[in-house]
Amino acid sequence: MENIKEIIKNQKQFYQTGRTRSYEFRMQALDRLEKVIIRQEDAIKKALKKDLHKSSFESYMTEIGMICNEITYAKQNLKKWMKPKKNRAPLAQFPSKCFQVYEPYGVVLITAPWNFPFLLSLQPLVGAIAAGNCCIIKPSEYAPASANVLKKILSMVFPQKYICAILGGKRTSQELLDQPLDHIFFTGSVSVGKIVMEKAAAHLTPVTLELGGKSPCIVERSADLKMAAKRIVFGKFLNAGQVCVAPDYLLADEAFAKELVMYLKYWIRSMYGEDPTANKNYPAIVSPRHFKRLMNMTRQGKVVYGGYGDERTRKIAPTILLDPCMDAPIMQEEIFGPLLPIITYQNLEEAKALIAKRPKPLALYLFSRDKKIQREIMEGLSYGGGCVNDTIMHLSSSSMGFGGVGESGMGSYHGKDSFETFSHKKHILKKSIKIDLPVRYQPYNSVKEKALKFFMKF
Ligand code: NAD
Repeated sequence: MENIKEIIKNQKQFYQTGRTRSYEFRMQALDRLEKVIIRQEDAIKKALKKDLHKSSFESYMTEIGMICNEITYAKQNLKKWMKPKKNRAPLAQFPSKCFQVYEPYGVVLITAPWNFPFLLSLQPLVGAIAAGNCCIIKPSEYAPASANVLKKILSMVFPQKYICAILGGKRTSQELLDQPLDHIFFTGSVSVGKIVMEKAAAHLTPVTLELGGKSPCIVERSADLKMAAKRIVFGKFLNAGQVCVAPDYLLADEAFAKELVMYLKYWIRSMYGEDPTANKNYPAIVSPRHFKRLMNMTRQGKVVYGGYGDERTRKIAPTILLDPCMDAPIMQEEIFGPLLPIITYQNLEEAKALIAKRPKPLALYLFSRDKKIQREIMEGLSYGGGCVNDTIMHLSSSSMGFGGVGESGMGSYHGKDSFETFSHKKHILKKSIKIDLPVRYQPYNSVKEKALKFFMKF
């Protein structure tokens, strides 16, 4: 087992040298990261195949390509992000200048889950590097081949005293959380998120929590049903539904539910074939435990499509269920697999009320052509982020922040949000020594008080 205390001590010492702070150092680190990812593309794809049976296409689209895109965006914008920003100086402080500078936190921890083992480790790392930090990554033990490749590629381009991966499970993670870190960036489940926050409290370490939950998808009566079904099938069954922002359940207008199911079946068949469990490009469920959990869920509603799996390959066919039991795990827990329950509603208010009474979701999707309804739903409900007439694509752009709210998390990243998440925003007032207004100094009198009232208006 690695000596965690020693690694953190060395990183803190390295950070104190100030080397990670310059623009040139950060750019060089981003370049190195980009180059090693491109060079190691095959090793990354092989590991993803081993852990999750991910296809080469999906590995590039949802992991490698997205990381490279994030690096490019950070490199294009870093100079602008790092520039001190001017603030208005109040008249009472005349003559002075006010400005803000972004200071790196120091040594930060990134803890990642298994579903996108490279993306969810390296995308936040881009922000940590851009902001000038040292960093430790703790990948998930449930994607061991990916964790090993990740550790190897980081050690090829970075010294351990700057950036490294520490492998291990719950105990290693807890030992890391017990250390005096400068920021914790955690992606994972709500229950572990609570443990992370509790541990961080001991050192008052700031946290970013990227959690999960049940993300609803509404298909409203004005929707283009065929298009809606196509985009729902894409977002729901990508990575076999093991996606934090996958539509967890559908809320469909009762009058059109049958037609919607017909289109969903059509698109599943045309994208995944008659038997998706035999499709070599369809990912597997991560572990036998999750396979069993999901197969149990197929009994918690009326299966109208799919409903079967292959225990040997851990693949579960895309499954549609009608009228799920609202008290059963399928509607109480995050599904995180290829099961899509559909709940029908008679009027939209029912759907809104059902979402509003549950914990705030990470994502919300609405399919509707009606602009008034689009505004009413997307602005009226609380959730991390979402799409109108699409699923999951809101996190495809580095120019948009991504994060949860309430039980789905706190803080945000991607692009500039990542840079800000890994920085402390420091505000500074720089006073001239040529003039020194006497108003604020003792002894006080009524003339000074009048002057004070005048100055403090501006
Ligand atoms: P998890 O919470 O079980 O594990 C995440 C990390 O925490 C792992 O590295 C693990 O080793 C560590 N960990 C586990 N138990 C711990 C404990 N008791 N104390 C300290 N550390 C512990 O999550 P998971 O199963 O790997 O991932 C699935 C969850 O992650 C889902 O809920 C999903 O929605 C969520 N997720 C969220 C996002 C997002 O961006 N918001 C992205 C992907 C996944």
